[in-house]
Amino acid sequence: MKEFELINRYFKGRGISRRDVNLGIGDDCALVTVPQNCQLAVTTDTLVEGVHFFEDISPRALGHRALAVNLSDLAAMGAEPTWVSVALTLPTIDSQWIAEFTEGMHEIAEYFNVQIIGGDTTQGPLTITICAKGTVPEGKALRRSGAKVGDWIYVTGPLGDAGLAIEARKQGINIDPTHLEYLNNRFDYPTPRVAAGQVIRGLATSAIDVSDGLLADLTHILEMSQVNAEINVESIPTSEAMKASLDFNKQLPFILSYGDDYELIFTVPDNNKGMLDLKLSQYGVDITCIGQIKSGNGKIELLQNGEMFNFEQQGFEHFTKEQV
Ligand SMILES: [Mg+2]
Repeated sequence: MKEFELINRYFKGRGISRRDVNLGIGDDCALVTVPQNCQLAVTTDTLVEGVHFFEDISPRALGHRALAVNLSDLAAMGAEPTWVSVALTLPTIDSQWIAEFTEGMHEIAEYFNVQIIGGDTTQGPLTITICAKGTVPEGKALRRSGAKVGDWIYVTGPLGDAGLAIEARKQGINIDPTHLEYLNNRFDYPTPRVAAGQVIRGLATSAIDVSDGLLADLTHILEMSQVNAEINVESIPTSEAMKASLDFNKQLPFILSYGDDYELIFTVPDNNKGMLDLKLSQYGVDITCIGQIKSGNGKIELLQNGEMFNFEQQGFEHFTKEQV
């Protein structure tokens, strides 16, 4: 199958058609209209087989995940996802594989009203590069640099599930089958927190998505904002599957430093807390306050029930996550 046949068959004329797309797939470039008084938010991410995903991941999950991780970056900026372009490097043309992969991608694109406006295919080791674009009202994007002393620190959703799914596969951790199904879904089909990102825009002072783990990603906010954080480890939300599978101490590496959850971490000033609770309850988004911003220059202090808690001194190897 030639490149244009492949693009036509699996991408062109599929999925949603946005009115702000003037020209989609089929010319040298796509043409889109950015709404007035909005900025374009642009992000790109590459997934490489053997580096970012297992060879046995289902093509549908891979299509979903590749797009989800990009939409998560838009969510973390408070942007509304609008358009994506996809570069696919494939070792062979396997129609069944491509059909399932693009199905997974179209499903999440449709859910978030995102149009695939361009693509490129090449032969080589399996690699997926996506460039996702979104719009955000001028000057309103959530950045990493805005956290202020006294702000409360929140996270969406439970943390650690994706890491537990990976390690359960790698190490054969014994997990109840219904919990395992939930955990695998959390890794394979992450939900970018697009609605939460837009709801907290205007209320939060900073935000980031959890791709590398709570400690690593929160540190990005702290360094950019030149502040410290105090985190109450017992407040960090975890799933039923996590609680049922591991003792609290064994959960900590997953909760604190594994990543791949694609939840949001954000900071909110005290006088916006009420409005935040109100708006998020209207949208059915769960958030949890896990600590507070303190003065400093980029350090995290962990507390457990009010006592100083040293993650490394407790005998945990700081997870150097092997890429999967
Ligand atoms: Mg990110």
